[in-house]
Amino acid sequence: MPPIPGTGLAKGLAVTLRTMTRKSVTAQYPDTLPPLPPRSRGVIGLFEENCTVCMLCARECPDWCIYIDSHKETVPPAAPGGRERSRNVLDRFAIDFSLCMYCGICIEVCPFDALFWSPEFEYAETDIHDLTHERDKLREWMWTVPEPPAVDPAAEEPKELAAARKAAEKAEAEAATVRDTGEGHAAGERPATGERPAPGEEPRP
Ligand code: SF4
Ligand code: SF4
Repeated sequence: MPPIPGTGLAKGLAVTLRTMTRKSVTAQYPDTLPPLPPRSRGVIGLFEENCTVCMLCARECPDWCIYIDSHKETVPPAAPGGRERSRNVLDRFAIDFSLCMYCGICIEVCPFDALFWSPEFEYAETDIHDLTHERDKLREWMWTVPEPPAVDPAAEEPKELAAARKAAEKAEAEAATVRDTGEGHAAGERPATGERPAPGEEPRP
């Protein structure tokens, strides 16, 4: 049966009438910024104080777009007679966001919490070379990284928090003991290694 002329037009008008009174859902970017989830993958921030130049992120990056240069530095021994140590010093840390595919592997594998996602995404450039962000720029992104969400009150205490709390309690108890006794160590407590026992005190086994 041939279609009745004007049916398509009537259907189109029906849709128009149905939707013309509804609120528009079109986001007028850039006048209105989209409400992004705090953990959006916008750009990567570098907290370089935590970076030990272990190179894990650069090795695991599937696009090979993390560039790290470093040199070794000799650190004097912590105590007289000790051995000198060497440590890596960061010279360059850069990420080429024209190659990055935002997989997040670098952030996942970093064992020292030096890389973080920021939801910032407005860093388009007219020159592709400017999409390689050097360490200063990566550091600036750290200011835009949102705070981690609060721990669920019903959840088990994270072991890092439990360890930090126990260490703080222990330090506080030791400080209180020192204050109460007015001595360097509590009564009945063994002196620290290297200290001589006081006269009359039992020698250490
Ligand atoms: S997000 Fe993925 S592609 Fe981008 S730098 Fe990290 S590991 Fe490489
Ligand atoms: S994995 Fe982390 S600590 Fe290692 S080089 Fe990369 S950012 Fe630095």
